[in-house]
Amino acid sequence: MHILSFDVEEWFHLLEHDAVRSEKSWSGFERKLPHMLARILQLLDETHTKATFFCLGWVAREYPELIREIDGAGHEIGSHSDLHTLIFEQTRDEFRDELRRSKQSLEEVVGKPVRAFRAPGFSLVPRCSWAFEVLVEEGFEVDCSIFPARRAHGGFPRFASARPLRIQTPAGELREFPMNTARIAGRNTVFSGGGYFRLLPLPVLQRLWRRSGYTMTYFHPRDFEPDQPYLPGLGPLRRFKSYYGLASAEAKLRAILKEFRFESVAAAESQVDWAAAPLVRLN
Ligand SMILES: [Zn+2]
Repeated sequence: MHILSFDVEEWFHLLEHDAVRSEKSWSGFERKLPHMLARILQLLDETHTKATFFCLGWVAREYPELIREIDGAGHEIGSHSDLHTLIFEQTRDEFRDELRRSKQSLEEVVGKPVRAFRAPGFSLVPRCSWAFEVLVEEGFEVDCSIFPARRAHGGFPRFASARPLRIQTPAGELREFPMNTARIAGRNTVFSGGGYFRLLPLPVLQRLWRRSGYTMTYFHPRDFEPDQPYLPGLGPLRRFKSYYGLASAEAKLRAILKEFRFESVAAAESQVDWAAAPLVRLN
C-alpha cells in the first residue's frame, strides 16, 4: 500500500520563523501556489494517480478555485489546519477553533465532508495527544499526523507501528495512517517526503520503496519548485534543508509514480480490515 499526499500551502509557510509567523505578514510575499499546484496536478494526470491534498483553510478562502480544481480532478481534500499553527503551541480550545475554521472553509468550497487531517509540521506530538480526541469531536475520522521519528517541529519518536491502526480516544476511534520509516545510517528515518526525499538519489529511493510494504508520503507544492524566492533570515542549515534538491524532485517523483501504484488516503482506507487493525490509546 503506497499512499500519495500533499500538504497544500504557499512556499513561505515555513514553521517557527518570525518573518512569516502571522497571517498579516503573508500579504508581503509573492504568491506561487497556483503555478506550483498546476505542475503537480499535471504530473498526477500524466501518471493516472489520485492523491489526498491536505489543504489549509486559508487556501480555501484565498484560492477557492484551486480547491475546486483539485476536487474536480478526483483527488481527496483533507485539512492541514487553518493557518498552519503548530498544535503544541495551542490550547485545546485554540486547536478546536482552528480545526473548525479549516473544515468549514474547505467544505464550503467542495460541498462535501472533509474527514482527514494532517497536523502542520507533524506537530501532533505526545504532549498534545488530546488533539486526537478533539479531531474525533470535530467530525474527523482519519488522521495522518504521526511521524515516528525525531524532527525539528514534532515527531512521535517512540511510536513503533508503521501501518494503519486505530486510535482510541474518549470521544471514539480515529483511523491513523502514520508515516513509515526506514533505518538509514542507524536511525529511523522518514524518506517518503520532505528533506530526505530531496536529498536521497533516485536509486536509493527506489530500493527503499521496493522493500516497503506500506508507505505514506508527504510532499508540498514548494518541494518541486526550483524557482521560488528565499525567505529572509533563514540560518544556513535551515536554508539547506528547505531549498536543497528542488530541481530534481519532480523527476524523482515521476519515476516513483511510474514504478509503484499510489492511491489516496480514502482509497487506502477502503482496503484496510479495520476490525483487525491494532487499537492503541495515546492519551
Ligand atoms: Zn505544512
